Amino acid sequence: MSYYRFIDKGKGPTKLFVGGIHGHEGETTIDFLKSISYSDFSKGKTFIYNFDYTEYISTIKKEYYETKIGKTIINLIKKHNPDFYIELHCYNIKNYENLISPNRRESQGVPPLIDLENHVLISSVSPLIRKKYFKMETICKTLEIPCINKKLYWNDLSSITEGNITKNDIAKYNVNKDIAKNDISKCNVNEDDNVNNYNLNKSFNTYLKIIKILSKVKTRDEFQRIMIKKYPKQVELAVKYAKEIFGEKFPPF
Ligand SMILES: [Zn+2]
Repeated sequence: MSYYRFIDKGKGPTKLFVGGIHGHEGETTIDFLKSISYSDFSKGKTFIYNFDYTEYISTIKKEYYETKIGKTIINLIKKHNPDFYIELHCYNIKNYENLISPNRRESQGVPPLIDLENHVLISSVSPLIRKKYFKMETICKTLEIPCINKKLYWNDLSSITEGNITKNDIAKYNVNKDIAKNDISKCNVNEDDNVNNYNLNKSFNTYLKIIKILSKVKTRDEFQRIMIKKYPKQVELAVKYAKEIFGEKFPPF
């Protein structure tokens, strides 16, 4: 079921968080959005939406914004006119190298995502909407975490059919049955159960930490200061990519 939440803390910035942008991603992102408590939010108004399954079309493709869900998202942006616009996504861990590869610019026409830490990736939002619907000063962020949903893996892994999944396959792709229940607080991840040093627990913590920073900050300056302090190298890269794709004076956030 789609999820909606509105937090009204009076005067202050307007924030729009959206999860479940496409595919099964909403099944991963919903728990994070639900776990932010009232005290985690800044003053101002925060609107949170998480959508159910829709066909997977990348947001860097025009077709996405021609679909029902794509149009819904554009309408939400127009309706709320946010100062902070945050898209929560998740990705298949097997695509990690592709997503952060410098070749992404050539192959996809968009900059690579930046690994903040623990496989949590950050970037701007789709170039198709960044300049068209937002002011330059708007904070626009895409946050990506490896998906924890079993179906996604089953759909994505052409070599594995659903009826034929083995324990090994599950361990290999780190799809833990406890995690599949979508309960972040109770999930029990074995530290040794890593793929390429990938640890779900650490990813969860980082992802939630960044979401909470974005929930809490009141201004772009405040967000920038925190990010530069915590992730100086990643911010440097973000500045470089923003210049390449949006022009010399464009801010990285
Ligand atoms: Zn996505």
